[in-house]
Order: sequence, then structure tokens, then C-alpha cells
Amino acid sequence: MKYETVVGLEIHAELSTDTKMYCGCATSFGSEPNVHCCPVCLAMPGTLPVINKKAIDFAIKAGLATNCEITRKGNQERKNYFYPDLPKAYQISQMKTPLCVNGYIDIEVEGETKRIRINRIHIEEDAGKLLHEAGGGGTLVDLNRGGTPLIEIVTEPDIRSAEEARAFLESIKAILEYLEVCDCKMEQGSLRCDVNVSVRQEGALEYGTRTEMKNLNSFRSVIRAIESESRRHIEAIEYGEEIIQETRKWDDDKGISFSMRDKEEAQDYRYFPDPDLVYIAIDDEKIESIRKTLPELPAARRERYVQEYEIPRYDAELITNSKYLANFFESCVSLGATPKVVSNWLLGDVAKILNEKAATAEEIPFSPEHLAKLIEIIENGTISNTAGKKVLEELFKNPRDPEAIVKEKGLVQISDEGELLKVIIQVIDENPRSLEDYKAGKKKAMGFLVGQTMRATKGQGNPQMINKLLKEELDRR
Ligand code: ADP
Ligand code: MG
Ligand code: ZN
Repeated sequence: MKYETVVGLEIHAELSTDTKMYCGCATSFGSEPNVHCCPVCLAMPGTLPVINKKAIDFAIKAGLATNCEITRKGNQERKNYFYPDLPKAYQISQMKTPLCVNGYIDIEVEGETKRIRINRIHIEEDAGKLLHEAGGGGTLVDLNRGGTPLIEIVTEPDIRSAEEARAFLESIKAILEYLEVCDCKMEQGSLRCDVNVSVRQEGALEYGTRTEMKNLNSFRSVIRAIESESRRHIEAIEYGEEIIQETRKWDDDKGISFSMRDKEEAQDYRYFPDPDLVYIAIDDEKIESIRKTLPELPAARRERYVQEYEIPRYDAELITNSKYLANFFESCVSLGATPKVVSNWLLGDVAKILNEKAATAEEIPFSPEHLAKLIEIIENGTISNTAGKKVLEELFKNPRDPEAIVKEKGLVQISDEGELLKVIIQVIDENPRSLEDYKAGKKKAMGFLVGQTMRATKGQGNPQMINKLLKEELDRR
């Protein structure tokens, strides 16, 4: 039997407002516990919330960038549940009238464009954080995060594989970054994701029963969770077992999910309009004024890179997925570097080193000027490509003028014919077998001799010249 995986995502993004959703406390990460709190976000009796307008603007901005309709009148509702990180015993959220509805974004997977519909984007507030085993045992509560503005982006169940889920998340992350409404630091929890998974027989019209895994905070865990959970569903179905709709906990270390609690229904939360808040009214003028602030978005930028810089679509996608990397790329190009060459460096050696360091593009320690200069001195023959890689490593260790690095490290390329020929003659004399082979028509021998010559020049010989001079010398003998 063939099965199809069906996935829907609920993405929580913390908005980068300076202050919290309903009070003036600073939003921040990594402060001492419980220093960004006040009577409102600590839920003291008699306090009243006042909504942060900027949070609404940010949510609308996200909605417009994802092709949503903006709901013009909306309530905020209380979602009631008890948990120690939630002092009010309810979260202010939106149920009936989310700010944004019926959107979509187009993702690209294996060269194909696919549309993923967005059911809704609503605003809500974040809960605090429980610190387990902190301070020598027990659990402590940190309410700094309590009341931080969030948007929740809910997709339709349009995603059909872990790869599509990754592409969708990459796109959403890039869009939110471009809009500057969320810093998208997954490792800090400012972007996190609930994953709903079901499977059905290929061709079936009805969806299967889904399970939900909450609060995954890396692309890697989302992908592994989808793969593992859909396998679990398939096995259960094959054994004739029933899948129960429930919330499961994803254990990233073990790579499995386990049952946490029955799926709660909307009615369990006893949603009702928060009587302390006026309803939200948004007019066309407001929407249009926000629309005007939308920057060039990743998809448009990708198209422009393909047209204007003539780099492959795949390169354009990888670069534009990070606003920082895209700006870096454009700076290098405006300094005169060839677009495809810049792209090769950024996606090749630079990405490799970043990867080894588990660092992101933002952490590139050198400037676009440095990379543009490095490219220039390779193209004008001052240094070889191999030496260029050494300069790049130096740039990561201690960023400074590439020309200075070249001088310090003695990396200047040898392009002096006389000097190179001396080395070539010596290499041929030391390898009579290769000379014989070459003469016998084994052209491969030439490659070996080029390698030996490169070695003898400690990688500093100009490769084009070595090839030319070596061939002449071999043919002359
Ligand atoms: P709830 O409000 O109970 O969480 P929703 O109907 O709003 O439920 O759906 C939540 C998420 O689950 C959405 O992202 C939706 O796309 C996804 N979803 C719904 N049905 C399925 C299914 N059968 N398989 C996979 N995902 C699903
Ligand atoms: Mg849900
Ligand atoms: Zn507060």
C-alpha cells in the first residue's frame, strides 16, 4: 500500500516590538529572571491591559506579505487554561476573528512551485517560562516572556512531505526577517512550530486522523518529527491499530514522539471575548499605509537576481533566503565583483566554514569589501584560487585587508615564466617515467606533472602558466 503524508503547521513568531502586548514592559531575551514584569503582566487584581498598536501593525504586515485578507473588525478572546507559567490562567488570543485570513505563499521544491494556503494569522500573548531543576531542584517560573506579542500562522493541511515543510518554514522565516517583524532566532524560541501530521492511502479523499507535536524549535527537529511520526502512523495502520487524535511530545534526542495528553478541543478553553479590551477596528487607510511599508520580499528578490545578475535560480534562492546574505551579496557586486563568482564563494567556501562553526550568515566576521577584494586579486592573477582559500580562512580568523594577508603569508602567485620553467625542468628530470608515458601518448602523465610542479611551488605557481609551459617543455623533449 502506498501512503501520503499530510502536514499542517502552526507557527508562533514573537514580534520584535520594544514592549509587551498589553503593558509597557520591555521584551527581551536572556535577562535575569523576572525583571521585565509589572502588575499587568503578573496578573495582579484590578489591572487593565492596553493593546500595543505596533504589534497589530506587525501582524497586518505579515498578513499582507503572505497574501492574506485583513479582517477589519476583531475581538480578542480569553483562552482559559491553568498552567504555572500563565498567571492570569488565561491567554489573550483570537479565535473567531483572526486579524488575517485566507492567505498563501508559493514554495519551491525540487524545481516545482507549490502553493501552501494560510488559514489564518492571529495575535496572542506568550506565556512565561518554567525553569526545571533550576537553583538546585524543583521548578522555578520566569515571567519575563509572559505577555510578549506573538503571531500564530496556521496553514491549511497542504504540505505533503518533510521537504515541503522545510521549504515553507524557510520561506516564512525569510519573509518575517525581511519585514523585520520577528528576529526569527529559533534557538531562542522566537520562532517555533507545532507540527500536525496524518497519513492516508494515496488517492484517498478523506484525511487521516492527525497527531500534533508542539513547540519544535529547529528545522531539523521539524523534519525528523514529520518523518518519524508519519512512519509511526503507517505502521499502526498496517497493524490495524487506530490512530488517536492527540498531542504528542517530540523527543529530539531519542528521535521519537510519545503521548502527552488527549487533544483538547476549542470548547475546552471556554473562549470568550476579553471584556477588558475594546475590539480592534482597522480601516482601508491603515491597511494601505502599512502596505506601502512592505519591502521587496524574498520571492521578488530571487526573481530579480535571476534576471539582473543572471545567477542560477537555486543560488538566488539560497542567497535571498537570508536578508543578511542577500545584502552582503549585493554589496560585493556593487563593488565590482562578478555576481556568479560572489555567489560561488558565499554558497561554497564561506557556507562550508560557517557550517563547520554552526554559525549563520550574520556571523560572517569580514565585510563585503574584504570578499570583493579577495575576488579581485584572484581574478587579476595576484594569487591563485588555492591561495584565495587560505586568505578566506584568515579572514574568518582575523578579518583584515586581503592584500595585507597575502603579503604576510607570502601567498603571491608565481607568474614569472623563467622562474616557473626552472621548476618545471627540475620536475620533469626527477620523473623520467612520466616523461616516457607522456611521449607514449598517455596524456594523464601531464596531470601528475602539473601536480608535482604545483607542489614544488607550494601551491603558488600560476596554474594556467604551468599548464602551458609544461606542455611546451614536454613536447620539446
Ligand atoms: P486546532 O484549532 O484544533 O489546532 P485546526 O483545525 O485549526 O485545529 O488545525 C490545526 C492545524 O492542523 C492546521 O495547521 C491544519 O492544517 C492541521 N491539520 C488539520 N487536519 C489535519 C490532518 N488531517 N492532517 C494533518 N494536519 C492537519
Ligand atoms: Mg493547534
Ligand atoms: Zn508588564
